[in-house]
This record gives sequence, structure tokens and C-alpha cells, in this order.
Amino acid sequence: MLKPAFAIFIACAAAAPQTAHAIHERASLLVVIANNAVSKPEGVALARQTAFELNVRLRRTQFKTVPLPETDLTNRPQQLYAAAAWGRSRNLHRRATAVLIVTPPIATRFAAGLALGVCRPRSSASYAVANIKPGDFSRSLVAAVHEVGHLLGANHLSFPGNWMHPDALNQPFADTANFQTQTKNEINRCLRTVRLTPPL
Ligand SMILES: [Zn+2]
Repeated sequence: MLKPAFAIFIACAAAAPQTAHAIHERASLLVVIANNAVSKPEGVALARQTAFELNVRLRRTQFKTVPLPETDLTNRPQQLYAAAAWGRSRNLHRRATAVLIVTPPIATRFAAGLALGVCRPRSSASYAVANIKPGDFSRSLVAAVHEVGHLLGANHLSFPGNWMHPDALNQPFADTANFQTQTKNEINRCLRTVRLTPPL
């Protein structure tokens, strides 16, 4: 399933300096599907596609029961931070450059996402949470790629049609999102600042 965005991404990566490309490929992503947020097949597909879009390795996919507080839209960060705290308590960040925890939608119907840091590979802030909607793969993928993009150094970019749009979930480009050169440069610059070693 090659998408135009991927073709563009690969073409630019091939033209980039060899060292930057090599470092990028060594970054890894750990995806945790929490609390049956999605079916196992869809969760695996979401994890694989997220790693694919970001050109990082998918090191491990786990399916766990994560204790999350009941929440509504007004205290949304509470649930998101709780998921990240759960991951930190298990040192999941020791096993991946970035950790994405996928949880059920907020207030039973809202998709959302939050990254604990920008360019914080291999630290306790290397967690992102995506609240996704079962059966809505495109929006789930946007949430996942957008938040992991933050962890790997990407900032918001208001250019239309790109993964890092500040209001990405509400853009109509879910099936055609891409990375702008500025974002790819940010990610490569971020990953060059850290020493990436194979996950434990
Ligand atoms: Zn964002």
C-alpha cells in the first residue's frame, strides 16, 4: 500500500546525507494498544503504518490493561498523563526512541492526542498518547503519526495537508497527509543529537 506521501518521503530521504538517513532508520517506536482501544488486527496495522510513515523501526507492540481515570473533555490531560505515567513506571522508554500509547476515545467519541515532549528521544518524556476511534483508521493514524512526530522533533506546521498541522485531526487530508521538508529536517536534526542504540 504505497501512498504518494511515502514516495515523496523516500525520494527525499535518498537524497539526504547518508549519515542522517542511517541515524533515522535506527530510531524505534514502541506502540502499546491499551484497554482494547482497537481490535488487535487494527492495532497492529496502526502501529506498523505509523512506524512506516515516520521511517522508524517498530520494535515491539504490546497489548496491556492500563489503569486510566474516567475522564471527559474538560480533564482530558489527566487521562493522557496517566497513560504516560503508567508507561514511565514500567520504563518503557528504555526500549524505544519513542513510545506511543493508544487509548480509547475521550468521552466515548472524541479523538485526541498529546505528546509529553518535542525531541525527547529516550527520556521519561518520550511518551505520546493517542485517543483514537475504533473503525476510523485514517484519523487514528493522523493522531498517532502527529504525536510521535512531536516526540521525534517535529513542531507544528500550518502548511495545508501535512501530518504536523496544528489541527491535524480536523483536516480533510487524512488519506493524503505528507511531511514537509521542514518537518523532515527537524526530525533528522533531533535524532542526530541523541545517541541511538539498539533497544534492550
Ligand atoms: Zn501537535
